[in-house]
Amino acid sequence: MKTIGLIGGMSWESTASYYQLINETIKEKLGGLHSAKILLYSVDFAEIERYQASGDWDKSAEVLSQIAQNLEQAGADFIVICTNTMHKVAPQIQKTISIPILHIAQATADALLENGIKKVGLLGTKYTMTQDFYKEKLFEAGLDVVIPDQAGVEEVNRIIYDELCLGQIEESSKQAYLAIIDDLKNAGAEAVILGCTEIGLLVQQEDTDVPLFDTTEIHAQKAAEFAVVG
Ligand code: GLU
Repeated sequence: MKTIGLIGGMSWESTASYYQLINETIKEKLGGLHSAKILLYSVDFAEIERYQASGDWDKSAEVLSQIAQNLEQAGADFIVICTNTMHKVAPQIQKTISIPILHIAQATADALLENGIKKVGLLGTKYTMTQDFYKEKLFEAGLDVVIPDQAGVEEVNRIIYDELCLGQIEESSKQAYLAIIDDLKNAGAEAVILGCTEIGLLVQQEDTDVPLFDTTEIHAQKAAEFAVVG
């Protein structure tokens, strides 16, 4: 079994989900007492969020690259960055290591194609929804992408940083997300990507008829599969 190098803590609330989901998938695949070989480096998210807010992506790339190198030296066979947003600097991190990064948007695009989806809604941080680094992976896969209107982008982003990353789950925020998911469906989306690793803590498939693609689940399952089959 390969050793998974997790870069987590962004936020730790969702890294806990990764740890559980990866181990559950390994158990499902291998049975018995099997569990995942994991090296976890969990950052102080306040530091990373400061770099995001000030637009200092190069500094965040530097910090995460050093961590990825440490994980490689410690024996990781591949890297999993436990956040959609920080995949903005995945290409820079990849250049500094010789093991692969399992890209979250690529894993999500593959899952969408496997399910015959052509047009998809995207929820995530404002960086993920409005910048190109994430959507370009979806475009390369031939997918059409819709995002919320400006007020929706602000609201989805605010709830992520002010509530979900702090472990706060509010019913009113869930209703706000469900209304935005309906808007995306009305704009032609056949499914919606929960493109932030904390959204699955707030909204689950049973809350809506719109098919949801939870990036935490997809990424964690892909990591476990890659660890056992390659
Ligand atoms: N976990 C979130 C994501 O998947 C947001 C936190 C961050 O900015 O890294 O994008």
